[in-house]
Amino acid sequence: MKFYEMTPQRRRSQMEAEGKLSPRDAQLLARSGGLDPAIADGLIENQIGQFALPLGVARGLVVNGESRDVPMVTEESSVVAAASNGARIAALNGGVVAHAPAEHCVRAEVVFANVPDRDAALAVLLSRRRDMFAVARRAKPSIVARGGGLRDVSVEAVCDEFLKITLDVDVQAAMGANIVNTIAEAVATAAGDWIGVRALTAILTNAVCKAQAVTAEIVLDPLTVTCRDVAGEEVAEGIARLSRLAEVDVERAVTHNKGIMNGISAAVLATGNDTRAVEAGAHAFAARTGHYRPLAVWNMKENRLVGRISVPLQVGVVGGATTSLPAAGVAQRIGHYLPDDGSAVSVAVYQETLAALGLVQNLAALRALAGPGIQAGHMALQASNLAIAAGARGAEIAAVAAALQSCSKDLETAKSLLERLRSNL
Ligand code: NDP
Repeated sequence: MKFYEMTPQRRRSQMEAEGKLSPRDAQLLARSGGLDPAIADGLIENQIGQFALPLGVARGLVVNGESRDVPMVTEESSVVAAASNGARIAALNGGVVAHAPAEHCVRAEVVFANVPDRDAALAVLLSRRRDMFAVARRAKPSIVARGGGLRDVSVEAVCDEFLKITLDVDVQAAMGANIVNTIAEAVATAAGDWIGVRALTAILTNAVCKAQAVTAEIVLDPLTVTCRDVAGEEVAEGIARLSRLAEVDVERAVTHNKGIMNGISAAVLATGNDTRAVEAGAHAFAARTGHYRPLAVWNMKENRLVGRISVPLQVGVVGGATTSLPAAGVAQRIGHYLPDDGSAVSVAVYQETLAALGLVQNLAALRALAGPGIQAGHMALQASNLAIAAGARGAEIAAVAAALQSCSKDLETAKSLLERLRSNL
């Protein structure tokens, strides 16, 4: 029986048998949904309830020679199926090769406005760069002790109006927003004293420079992207053409990137990371040249289809909600994002997995577009949603969804199938 054909209980048992899920984590996942009320109330302001979403797993995504299971949380029916499909094709071709930057840096900006003598203030700030390093060390000694801390400082005038200090901070294995904001506020206070002006703002930016982008590449034999009625070469050519279209047509590029983020955001949410930070960073990066472009591009090269993605990923494997949400901990363990051999904690494995996932997610979407079209697969998976919307519960959901496969997939049909099912009982 295929993994997707099993019941959730049987999928957990299989992963337990494979050593991919501990009995304790399997039990935690089986206790469906609910956070401990105290954790839920402590996480956000004005908490009045909980909102459950399914946690799925894309299996066998080969990244840098290792087969990974990628936990994903999403409300969109086709996302995990597409990721699994992309991962299957990637595995047939030796998998994805991904690289995270050697240092995990997050940038902050400290900005001054209404500075009376801007040239003099600029000169003071430039002469105080070394002092800024000392301020940063005092503000967050623990990150220095972990091997991180402030790495670079620059000072510049922005338009006629602002003076800006840019701080690049190595945040090690954390997403880093709070770490960087603590340092930025301390530098803002000190710099404000030096130039006699209170800072307008001191905060991280979710924009990420090219050096901080994570890259991934795959080389595919066109035969492996063959679809039911379309030859592999034709599908591969179609994928390369769709990629070129995304480079010149913003309307296609936005949806191309949305498909990539279908996978990345779901895998980011599964670990309790900040999806908005990652989305903002990714789209800003896509527009960094002034023209919104695809995050992943595909080309034919010597009869091979070559896909490359370059995407910034502001995520952490410690801190934030990654530690406080129990299911996020399970997701980290399934993904093996934290080392279990005592080696140094790093965010690189997680970033590389996310970039590889984005690439294969894009592959699955473009393959469907270049082959049978997107709707056939989407609507097949949408059938369960329609069954639920029609009022089906429990075993009725699968029965109505199965019956919908050979009918027109709309709500009215789902309702009449449900009625017929109930009247036959
Ligand atoms: P935390 O404030 O939780 O800081 C990270 C923590 O991890 C620190 O307490 C640090 O401990 C601990 N830690 C343990 N091991 C390591 C390690 N190996 N490397 C680094 N830190 C380690 O989270 P972040 O600073 O990562 O901030 C993330 C949160 O900020 C997210 O919840 C995000 O949503 C939110 N946020 C996002 C913003 C944005 O994107 N614009 C703005 C503001 C907040 P110690 O202090 O002892 O070193």
